[in-house]
Amino acid sequence: MQNTAFFLALGEGVWYDAAMYIQDQLQEIKASIAAAERRAGRPAGSVKLLAVSKTFPVEDIMQAYNDGQRLFGENRLQEAMGKMPEMPGDCEWHLIGPLQRNKVRKALEQGFGLLQAVDSLRLAETVSRIAGELGCTARILLEVNVDAEESKHGFTPAELLESWAQLVALPYLEIRGLMCIPAPSEAPEGARPAFRALRELAERLRACGPLPLPELSMGMSHDYAVAVEEGATIVRVGSAIFGKRDYR
Ligand SMILES: *Cc1c(COP(=O)(O)O)cnc(C)c1O
Repeated sequence: MQNTAFFLALGEGVWYDAAMYIQDQLQEIKASIAAAERRAGRPAGSVKLLAVSKTFPVEDIMQAYNDGQRLFGENRLQEAMGKMPEMPGDCEWHLIGPLQRNKVRKALEQGFGLLQAVDSLRLAETVSRIAGELGCTARILLEVNVDAEESKHGFTPAELLESWAQLVALPYLEIRGLMCIPAPSEAPEGARPAFRALRELAERLRACGPLPLPELSMGMSHDYAVAVEEGATIVRVGSAIFGKRDYR
């Protein structure tokens, strides 16, 4: 069913019906994830596609839902809180953006399936404490600054290894794995070393015990296929599904 109310510009003079666009893109991305799984010798269905819907309206998200998509990611808590109640209850939502400690209670009450960007021991401690107060266990990923850039969020690999014993002792956290947002690179291949480093770090932490750390969240619109080859279990894809973002 085409929804002619929503149009999307794809470069000069080229217009597509947005509903058709999202449907086509989802199909193409799923096919290319499946191809990357095969290339890497990974079982079909090893990778979950997280549709990053930040800045896009509920109409677009609903379109993806109608095409079978159930897993969505939002960057900002406030924006997510506006959209989540508008969508059917069988969606799973992940918070993928930075979380301030004074917003942890709100985020936990909102019922995200996963908080993907827990980027410090201090934040992890706060999440565990407040989850305990709310009588729940918070499912989280730890964000790793794999290329150790000054300006970025996340544990450096050294910090993570150093904090590991304290992190695994936090009682109301379920640490499901690691996520990273590597420095932007021109070519998709540019991110491969960072993706590989995240996988190797997860292997090292598994060896430390006691957590299985099943999830690796890495890869975005232009490099998700490389991330799948390097072991991603969640790829976070926004603009390749929904089109160019307008931040205004
Ligand atoms: C926006 C965002 C994405 C998706 O980026 P695209 O390039 O549009 O696919 C993935 N991860 C995080 C943390 C983001 O903020």
